[in-house]
Amino acid sequence: METAEIRRRWLSFFEGTDHTVVPSAPLVYDDPNLLFVNAGMVPFKPYFLGQQSPPWKRATSVQKCVRTLDIEEVGKTTRHGTFFQMNGNFSFGDYFKEGAIRQAWELVTGSQAEGGLGFDPDKVWVTVLGPGLLPHLPDGDEEAAALWREIAGLPDERIQRRGVEDNYWHMGVPGPGGPCSEIYVDRGAEYGPDGGPLVDEERFLEIWNLVFMQEELSAIRSKADFDVTGELPSKNIDTGMGLERVAYLLQGVDNLYEIDEVYPVIERAEQMSGRDYGADHGADVQFRVVADHVRSGLMLMSDGVTPGNEGRGYVLRRLLRRAVRSMRLLGVQDPALTELLPISKDVMKASYPELEADFGRISQIAYAEEEAFRRTLVAGTTILDLAVDKAKERGATTLAGDQAFALHDTYGFPIDLTLEMAAEQGLEVDREGFTTLMTEQRERAKADARAKKSGHASTEVWRDLRDHGPTEFLAYETLTAEASV
Ligand code: ATP
Ligand code: MG
Ligand code: MG
Ligand code: MG
Repeated sequence: METAEIRRRWLSFFEGTDHTVVPSAPLVYDDPNLLFVNAGMVPFKPYFLGQQSPPWKRATSVQKCVRTLDIEEVGKTTRHGTFFQMNGNFSFGDYFKEGAIRQAWELVTGSQAEGGLGFDPDKVWVTVLGPGLLPHLPDGDEEAAALWREIAGLPDERIQRRGVEDNYWHMGVPGPGGPCSEIYVDRGAEYGPDGGPLVDEERFLEIWNLVFMQEELSAIRSKADFDVTGELPSKNIDTGMGLERVAYLLQGVDNLYEIDEVYPVIERAEQMSGRDYGADHGADVQFRVVADHVRSGLMLMSDGVTPGNEGRGYVLRRLLRRAVRSMRLLGVQDPALTELLPISKDVMKASYPELEADFGRISQIAYAEEEAFRRTLVAGTTILDLAVDKAKERGATTLAGDQAFALHDTYGFPIDLTLEMAAEQGLEVDREGFTTLMTEQRERAKADARAKKSGHASTEVWRDLRDHGPTEFLAYETLTAEASV
């Protein structure tokens, strides 16, 4: 079943149960706490927080999402994309646990001939919040467990009790909270050991999360530590199903990167590199990174993001450069985005027709970014070669940390590339020295931020670092380092 067909089924199923179809919000949304929309409920937050009254009691959507947190997973798990689409159904003070579970069961196991997704009921597992974890819910969410038994006839061994991290939800700010219940599909023994999602989340694939907003929270100190003010006057439902995850199950392919909306990019990358996907695990990860990042880049640019050194633009830049870098690791030196981006556009335009009309603008941005990165690589490679020659003349076996740092700092030359190219010449890199210099630079950036507050000027480089903060910056470092896997 095509991804576009699953999306149509989703919307028509919930339209059929009186949900208003709400179009996806853009990936860049008016929310100061978020870089990108990362869940279907984001555009509905004002209703859930009681800041606005919802124009409908029930709504449904297929929301474009980007999760930068999942970048490191891409290609290594079967199930994480940086861009993905989240199907959602929402109830604002209307149906609650029973309605949500009943509809979910009907859609998941309903026959395909009658508009359902047709999953074998015997392969479905669920999780609910376990007992003894939260003071206000000493028994966990036995109410949900009972509903799964009643409505779906699930035996108790396929209703697993799970921790707060996965099965309790709040927004991290005072407002609604509640337990959630997740739906998993067993992909079979060839994917991993038995024992349900508590044992193996690749064999038992999470497809859908049902959040039951039932109480009002205040003073949130951490995920599991908060005060409960009382029951919500009107209880809400927020659910999210990963469209791509259902697609790879229903398309009978191994992972998210092999579905109809992603795989054609891998095929083109195979032709370009002359290598076969499926022959080598390391190369396969690169192929998947390429296909995933090209698609995320496309969707971000379509929603107005342009590459830059800060915030959203920085994420886009890293995604595009990482795609190009992965192609180089696959042996492709020629421009890659010129070949791959049109393919991604062609497979995505069935669901996002605006991509076609806007492709002239989008592709210009992408191709210019690839050109800039190629220049960086050329300049950095020359400098690196010089440094390697000098080190060898001295009889050294290690490239100094300050040289790796200068390459990174002045030429934007990724550290993983320095490591790899030095290794090709038989040299190691003083990583410790490099890390020390990076830390010092971060400290200077912080000092600079303080200086700026007190009225002093700031340089571009420091501003870049400061805006990402130390934690996120490290994440980008890892992101770059990833490409050498
Ligand atoms: P996982 O545990 O697999 O990382 P999650 O628990 O973080 O998923 P939720 O936050 O519950 O995911 O999001 C709701 C649904 O969105 C998930 O059940 C899944 O189907 C889908 N989903 C989440 N993250 C991704 C991703 N990176 N790529 C594709 N689909 C995703
Ligand atoms: Mg996750
Ligand atoms: Mg999960
Ligand atoms: Mg989940």
